[in-house]
Amino acid sequence: MFSKRICRVRDLEIGGKKPVRVQTMYDSPIVGADIDELIARIGKLSSMGCDLIRFSYSSFDDEVPFKEIAKRSIIPVVADIHFDYRLALSALESGADKIRINPGNIGAKWKTKEVVLSALDKGRAIRIGLNSGSLPKNEKGLDKASLMVETALDYLNDFESWGFTNTVVSLKASDVDVTMEAARKFATSSDYPLHLGVTEAGSPIVSSVRSAWALGNLLHEHIGDTVRVSITGDIEDEIIAANEILRTLGLKKGGVRLVSCPRCGRHTFDSRGMVERLQPRLMALDKDITVAVMGCQVNGPGEAKDADYALTGIGKKAFLYAKGVLIKEVTEENAEEALFEAIENGR
Ligand code: SF4
Repeated sequence: MFSKRICRVRDLEIGGKKPVRVQTMYDSPIVGADIDELIARIGKLSSMGCDLIRFSYSSFDDEVPFKEIAKRSIIPVVADIHFDYRLALSALESGADKIRINPGNIGAKWKTKEVVLSALDKGRAIRIGLNSGSLPKNEKGLDKASLMVETALDYLNDFESWGFTNTVVSLKASDVDVTMEAARKFATSSDYPLHLGVTEAGSPIVSSVRSAWALGNLLHEHIGDTVRVSITGDIEDEIIAANEILRTLGLKKGGVRLVSCPRCGRHTFDSRGMVERLQPRLMALDKDITVAVMGCQVNGPGEAKDADYALTGIGKKAFLYAKGVLIKEVTEENAEEALFEAIENGR
């Protein structure tokens, strides 16, 4: 039951059975950042399959750089606000396409209302972001998941009473079971779009496993309209992991599928280093192909023959195959360029 409602964030639609959107959160302060570099990084993230990006907006010093980022970013930008409603107003004024707030930590209801009315006036979106660690007093003795859902529904009612419906909800917990339970309960109680994520998820491997389990199961049940795989690491890895989950579930078509051998005692070629170099570049290609990187000439060619392109290495040499046919012998150093040239030339 993907949500029936649609939330519009700039020109991006979330929910309403649209493709599941992928997002990440910028990992550094924006004050003092090189904005040209940052905008180029957003462009790369976008080409890898990132649909929107969030920035923490934690002081009024963020206003100037955020304004420029919002103006120049090719994907919608989201401002993450905590505690001070005036920062939410400032972010909206600075061009945030969406803000993420937890009304519970904004304080008095009139402050939240002022923010919501400003978003309404400017045609922006709001994510009501609840984390299990920042919930109101549990007066009814509800379990954590139910308390998260009930709190979100109360906030949605408030927003609707102020005439605002351009909303996404997220209910995140570091406990995977609580995250899944809350999402399932919310999906049966509301038709607002739901953002999925496991918060404080951990290292790339740990996070990818936890997120694949939680998000994979929920998406398989048609719950969730947008996702983030939170990783303590590179945000590019968050995009790779999220898109891999969507592709594995058949919710995203196309793109480059990179496969590589696990390596064994026969490998003499640095296939691991090659995969690390190729991955970000391949993910940015708008091609529907499979690329294989194999660690030896014994089993590599056979194992790679189903791929559109394959590199099998031996020591400092590599053999480049297209559809199982050897097209070139290259040095390890030239392998990357030779592969991309072959892909670009379609052979
Ligand atoms: S391709 Fe070669 S190195 Fe890789 S797992 Fe197979 S036999 Fe081992």
